[in-house]
Amino acid sequence: MIQKEGFIGVTTDNIFPIIKKFLYSDHEIFLREVVSNAVDATQKLKTLSQVGEYKEALGDLSVRISIDKKAKTLTISDRGIGMTAEEVDEYINQIALSSANNFLDKYKDNANAIIGHFGLGFYSTFMVASKVEIVTKSYKEGAQAVKWACDGTPQYTMEEADKADRGTDIVLYIDDENKEFLEKDKIESLLKKYCKFLPIPIVFGKKQEWKDGKQVETEEDNVINNPNPLWKQQPAGLKEEDYLKFYRELYPFSMDEPLFWIHLNVDYPFRLTGILYFPKIKSNIDLQRNKIQLYSNQVFVTDSIESIVPEFLTLLHGVIDSPDIPLNVSRSYLQSDQNVKKISTHITKKVADKLEDIFKKDRPQFETKWDSLKLFIQYGMLSEEKFYDRAAKFCLLKNTDGKYFTLEEYKKLIESNQTDKEKNIIYLYASNKDDQYTHIDAAKEKGYDVLMMDGQLDVHWVGLLEQKLEKTRFVRVDSDTIEHLIIKDEENKVELTDDQKKALTEIINSQLPGMEKTEFNIDFKALGKDAKPIQIVQNEFSRRMKEMSEMQQGMSFYREMPDAYQVVMNSDHPLVKELIAGADGKQDEELKSYAAESPKLKQMIDLALLSNGMLKGEALNNFVKRSFEKL
Ligand code: ADP
Repeated sequence: MIQKEGFIGVTTDNIFPIIKKFLYSDHEIFLREVVSNAVDATQKLKTLSQVGEYKEALGDLSVRISIDKKAKTLTISDRGIGMTAEEVDEYINQIALSSANNFLDKYKDNANAIIGHFGLGFYSTFMVASKVEIVTKSYKEGAQAVKWACDGTPQYTMEEADKADRGTDIVLYIDDENKEFLEKDKIESLLKKYCKFLPIPIVFGKKQEWKDGKQVETEEDNVINNPNPLWKQQPAGLKEEDYLKFYRELYPFSMDEPLFWIHLNVDYPFRLTGILYFPKIKSNIDLQRNKIQLYSNQVFVTDSIESIVPEFLTLLHGVIDSPDIPLNVSRSYLQSDQNVKKISTHITKKVADKLEDIFKKDRPQFETKWDSLKLFIQYGMLSEEKFYDRAAKFCLLKNTDGKYFTLEEYKKLIESNQTDKEKNIIYLYASNKDDQYTHIDAAKEKGYDVLMMDGQLDVHWVGLLEQKLEKTRFVRVDSDTIEHLIIKDEENKVELTDDQKKALTEIINSQLPGMEKTEFNIDFKALGKDAKPIQIVQNEFSRRMKEMSEMQQGMSFYREMPDAYQVVMNSDHPLVKELIAGADGKQDEELKSYAAESPKLKQMIDLALLSNGMLKGEALNNFVKRSFEKL
């Protein structure tokens, strides 16, 4: 009979308190560690059986988890390869603990590096247990079962045990501080989090059903996981429904269906499987939910994968499974890891391939999905040079009539009519069809095309396109008078004296309604007598800076600035000429009362504001009243 007592071979007197302290915030991973070990042991046995080294019947291979509340134990049982006494000595007493010790040594100044990553294995059970027993019997013929026990001091005991079945029971005596791990609901939710797709059935008690208004236990095992998740299957045999069903399995609370998906399947030079779904992205608010889940051989690792894929790809949903991503290292190390770099490049390429493929094979489908994809593609183009180069071929511009164009198609469309005298091609756009209707309409009348840019990233994207495309400028339709949006010839000279300009400026200023954080500057242009007498426009540059600052830190200078508008007076128009004549020779108070008593001036200003959707509140009410009185 073997009977053994000994000291676990480490130098530190007692590493268990350290384990407990370091991993305090992440206690729950012990369950992932022991269940993974049980699954590994079971898969090893399956392999031995396949190659003929194990000849007995495999029988039920489920890994079973059970709670005994009275004894305060949580038990994880498998029917895998088990261990002989020598193996326990080698794997548990020597290797497992000394590797745990090394690990702690290496990371003792960096608790974060430890938390949430593999590496502690079996010994992580001491985070929650005051005593751990291993009762195990090797698959080898005639093996003697052994029981190992350790109560959290470096001292352990080992003795012969009675165990009928091959495999291992890990019995955790849960300590008082961690009582929650004796709760059924807690364990079930942890199993669902970490073990949902493990390759061996994980059974936790029996299935429950409602009977006569009560929850009762059935005969059927409560299997936690799906041992054959979709990403591990061959794409050729899968249908659209399968992918949609799996999406719901991953995200049971999701309301939307994904637009399409990519099945990743790489063997070389790294191993990677997974399915990435393209969600409908409507706004920033959507971005946080339904994160990509990272697995390592079907064991859930994390759903914060920012350091593994480029940030824009974190907008996608789905799973990535790779045993080649090192898990027990810090984030900054991860980013410089060669395998991680390759994986990241590969995924970026696959995503671009998929989009290009749909674009080429099914342009109508691509167009219908564009609005939901746009934010994602723009984010990618803005943040990844390589992705920009790919996406520049298939990203779309949508005009105010709802037609879609590639960058190249659009350039061809507008080139002849929208090139200014400096040979810049001017891309006109609107951000609000209603507010900017007057300007859009005027542009169309001139034969110009107007793009729709009302997305969250459009301001930034437009800036990027200006950098990338040669001789290209984007201008919002209301950023200048229609005559000056695209300047093709020399401007006409304004024939007004400085005094006339000054007087006109004063009377207009006196009649403009006061608006919070809004500033008006009066400007004069000779636009011809057929152009509008007065127009209100907003300079492209300052408006864009302000819009960009809303999304960026450190640009508060622009954010705090008032909205600046130009009130452009057309010196050629008869109404403007009339105002000038009326103001002639008047000064100060006289000028003001002339302005106040000029119904035409008020009406002109209000109409200009109205065209921009800027006439509101009291000013709007006054305008309506005044207009009725005139009728
Ligand atoms: P790792 O799993 O990373 O090797 P662990 O500390 O979790 O480290 O486990 C140490 C070793 O103990 C394993 O490699 C395995 O050989 C053995 N072992 C642990 N659990 C079991 C089990 N349930 N059945 C058989 N062997 C096991």
